[in-house]
Amino acid sequence: MSLSPPLSPARLDRFARHIVLPEIGGAGQVALAGKHIAVIGLGGIGSPALQYLAGAGIGRFTLVDDDVVDASNLQRQTIFTSRDIGHGKATSARRWLANFDDALEVNISDSRITAENVGDLIAGADLVLDGTDNFATRLAVSDACVAERVPLLSAAVGRFQGQVGAFAGHLVASPCYRCFVGDAFDAEDCDTCAEDGMLGAMAGWTGSFAAMQAVRVLLSGVSRFGQPMWGKLHILDGMTPGMRTLTIAKDPACKGCGQAA
Ligand SMILES: [Zn+2]
Repeated sequence: MSLSPPLSPARLDRFARHIVLPEIGGAGQVALAGKHIAVIGLGGIGSPALQYLAGAGIGRFTLVDDDVVDASNLQRQTIFTSRDIGHGKATSARRWLANFDDALEVNISDSRITAENVGDLIAGADLVLDGTDNFATRLAVSDACVAERVPLLSAAVGRFQGQVGAFAGHLVASPCYRCFVGDAFDAEDCDTCAEDGMLGAMAGWTGSFAAMQAVRVLLSGVSRFGQPMWGKLHILDGMTPGMRTLTIAKDPACKGCGQAA
């Protein structure tokens, strides 16, 4: 284990409200500064999540999105403003991050995620947060996470419901995202929120909850808050409102993480 450098006085100030929490503390804050998270999809989930992940002082980001900011995104994609319309989401997100905290390291990609390129994009990350909006991409991200042995938080939102699941399919006893949804969604003709609609604040709740779960994963083994909750799926219901938690079982026949894989 390498010795992390201590935080500068300016960083101690910045993260004072974290450091004072016994569940995070100085050790937790130093650990976060040494972590690398890949955020795939910078839309309704990725935008609010990025705000809290950057706020938490996670040291290194890989931001991936091939889309361009559209006026209809601004109702929920909180890092973008009217001036970003027509610009790439990845480039705009990098600009937001640089304005927010220029001590954070960032790499971006505006490539479309495919089964071929996703492994390279996430290799070496401590955690992937996937907030993309279609099953084909989410399954490709999940398979790559298993292959690269990177944990995955997979998050989705639509209308008044959100979901955030924690997966570590590379571990013998833990399921992957494919164990949860199965193989039926590999085709690229599912979903998107365009037809269904979505309450903007619902995306905010789901994205910030995903950011909280990311901090939990990244502090695993470091501080008391660190508890990855592999195989737990949290379902956020904006209508009631309330939250339910399901446990996902590992599928031994899963072609992502099972014996067949
Ligand atoms: Zn699996």
